[in-house]
Amino acid sequence: MYEGDTIAAISTAPGEAGIGIVRMSGSKAFEITQKIFQSSSGKSFSELRNRGIYHGFIIDPKTHEKMDEVLVSKMRAPHTYTTEDVVEVNCHGGMIAVRRILELLLQNGARLAEPGEFTKRAFLNGRMDLSQAEAVIDLIRAKTDKGMDIALEQLEGSLSHKVQEMRESIIHMLAHIEASIDYPEYDIEEVTYDTLLKDAKQIKEKIEKLLETSDTGKILREGLNTVIIGKPNVGKSSLLNALVKEGRAIVTDIPGTTRDIIEEYINIRGVPLKIIDTAGIRETEDVVEKIGVDKSRELIEKSDLILFLLDVSKELSKEDELLIDLVQNKKAIILFNKIDLDPKVSIEKLKDKFPKKSIIEISALKGEGVERLQNEIVQMVYGGQVSIEKDGLVSNVRHKNLLEKALNSITITIDTIQQGLPLELISVDLKDCWDYLGQVTGDTVSEDIIDQIFSNFCIGK
Ligand code: GDP
Ligand code: ZN
Repeated sequence: MYEGDTIAAISTAPGEAGIGIVRMSGSKAFEITQKIFQSSSGKSFSELRNRGIYHGFIIDPKTHEKMDEVLVSKMRAPHTYTTEDVVEVNCHGGMIAVRRILELLLQNGARLAEPGEFTKRAFLNGRMDLSQAEAVIDLIRAKTDKGMDIALEQLEGSLSHKVQEMRESIIHMLAHIEASIDYPEYDIEEVTYDTLLKDAKQIKEKIEKLLETSDTGKILREGLNTVIIGKPNVGKSSLLNALVKEGRAIVTDIPGTTRDIIEEYINIRGVPLKIIDTAGIRETEDVVEKIGVDKSRELIEKSDLILFLLDVSKELSKEDELLIDLVQNKKAIILFNKIDLDPKVSIEKLKDKFPKKSIIEISALKGEGVERLQNEIVQMVYGGQVSIEKDGLVSNVRHKNLLEKALNSITITIDTIQQGLPLELISVDLKDCWDYLGQVTGDTVSEDIIDQIFSNFCIGK
């Protein structure tokens, strides 16, 4: 077990709140609490049962001054978050109470925890693997219900489980290979290239399947980069407002008055859109063409999805035409806005300009067509090749990179087997694959692989 000193930190977010929590973990956690906590039952902290929540006061042992009225959770190792002794002090919210208590813990023998150190300890103490520890961070940062679901699944070990399964089959393959190389005199099951090929192909398929989910995973975790484009006054901010509902962007009649580019996360039935509102682009009369179109071009390049607005209550302008050209080969949804007004363009003719695009007629102002737009977005994310299998979704870039490397190694392995090359060569790439997969879960890779193999494969049997 990993032996660390005793760490402490404020666990709740800074700012005003009903309660604040100061958390402490380590072998001295109980001893330190003993010095500063006076329970209302009159018992000292060490006399209290090992698992429970106790009411009382935090007292500065030097001045005997009461610092706060608190609830203290006592959690005895090993069944705690870090697997160490853990104490959590629930005190009054606001920065003063939590800071004072933290100070006191530090003065009495705790050390200020580094970012993520509680979770790091849980990992070092073997309570969770690396991908699970990473899920904890994702969980905290989740921006949507869906993102949270994925992180929770990962925390419960869905990804680790799949990766472990693959690693076990590789170990099994390696064991057979090593055994036939090193102990030819033993009567071991014969290693056939056919079995190896079959196993390797299975692993390849599994990695590919995991990787397939990674795009949806990324979208659900980080949000789909979405940009709303269109000439000034076409209704960009109004559309954003209709989507956000809370209406955080400023809508205005005067072009160019919305200040900065606004980034909003909008939850569309679980799909997070990270919307960049181009309303912030300077939209003054004389430079509109240059800046508007140039900036739009730049934003279009950076986005996953474009919402392109045209105002049907006005004749098409030169800028409209430029933007129409820009979006042709991009993932874009075309929105004919202001359909509540009398059209000044032929809707049918306008539709002909977008033969391959989804076109939706909307009124951003009245909210008409917005639901159809939402449906279209959800379909674009979930539709087609990308599967929405929630289970084991790869949403983390590090995992994705490692899986890609593992895929490469297993592909080479398959080639090597198919060419009938020596077993030693096959095992080299197979070990690489095992290694990359192990880095997903954080298992050590430096250990002597041969030892591992023979502890898994009983040769004397
Ligand atoms: P932006 O410059 O593209 O962000 O356009 P805004 O959203 O600021 O809208 C410009 C003006 O058009 C405002 O007065 C809006 O109320 C109006 N507007 C936007 N959408 C519609 C719509 O669907 N119908 C009508 N009648 N007016 C709209
Ligand atoms: Zn605007």
